[in-house]
Amino acid sequence: MEERPDAIVVGGGAAGLSCALFLARAGFAVTIFDDGRSSLHRVSCIRNYLGLGEGVSGSELLARARRQVERCGVSILHDDVIAVRLARDGRFVAVTRQAEFASRYLVLASNKRTDLASALGLALGGHGGRFVATNPHGETGLPRCYAAGRITGAPSQAIVSAGDGARVAIAIIQAERGEYYVDHDT
Ligand SMILES: Cc1cc2nc3c(=O)[nH]c(=O)nc-3n(C[C@H](O)[C@H](O)[C@H](O)COP(=O)(O)OP(=O)(O)OC[C@H]3O[C@@H](n4cnc5c(N)ncnc54)[C@H](O)[C@@H]3O)c2cc1C
Repeated sequence: MEERPDAIVVGGGAAGLSCALFLARAGFAVTIFDDGRSSLHRVSCIRNYLGLGEGVSGSELLARARRQVERCGVSILHDDVIAVRLARDGRFVAVTRQAEFASRYLVLASNKRTDLASALGLALGGHGGRFVATNPHGETGLPRCYAAGRITGAPSQAIVSAGDGARVAIAIIQAERGEYYVDHDT
C-alpha cells in the first residue's frame, strides 16, 4: 500500500487551518502545531470576512475553523515548535519540548514568527526584511518547505490568509500528484 503523504503545519491561525483543511481533504496526514497566539484572538468583531457579514469574534471564527479542520482528520496539537531541521532522509523534523515529529512537507504559517524560517536558512525580505520569500506556488527556497499567510507579507486580513493557505495547499497537492487539482463538492 502506498504511504499517505504527510505535512506539518506550524501555526493554526487562518492560513494554517485553511491549508490543513485542503491537504486533509486530499488525503494528506496533517498535523498542526499551534501555541494559541493567533492575531485573530485580538479581534473582537470581524465584519470583513465574506459570508460572515453579521460579524463574529476572531476567537469564535478560529473555534469554528478548528472544528471543521478536526472533522477532516487533522491533528491539532497545542504546542510550541521550538526548532525545525531537515533530516538526512529529506524529511522535516519539528521539535517541541516533548517530542520530535517528521514529515515530507512543512508549511510555515506562523505570522510574525520567522525564527524557524531563519533556522532553516531561509532568506527574509519584504517590508523591513520581516517576511519569508516564496515562489508563486508558496514554496520557499527549500524544496517541500512552503509558507502561507501573513508570514509571506500577505495583506493583514484574515480572509487573505485563509485564501493563501488554500492556495498553498493546492500547490502542494499538485506538486505531489504531478497534475492539476481541484477540490469541488458536488
Ligand atoms: C488588533 C487586530 C485587529 C484585526 N482586525 C482584523 C479585521 O477586522 N479583519 C481582518 O480580516 N483581519 C484583522 N486582523 C488581522 C488578522 O488577524 C490576520 O491577518 C490573520 O490572523 C493572519 O492569519 P495568519 O494565519 O497568517 O496568522 P495568525 O492568525 O496570527 O496565526 C499564526 C499562528 O501561528 C502560531 N505560531 C507561531 N509560531 C509558532 C510556533 N513556533 N509553534 C506553534 N505555533 C506557532 C501562533 O500561535 C498563531 O496561532 C486584525 C489583527 C489585529 C492584531
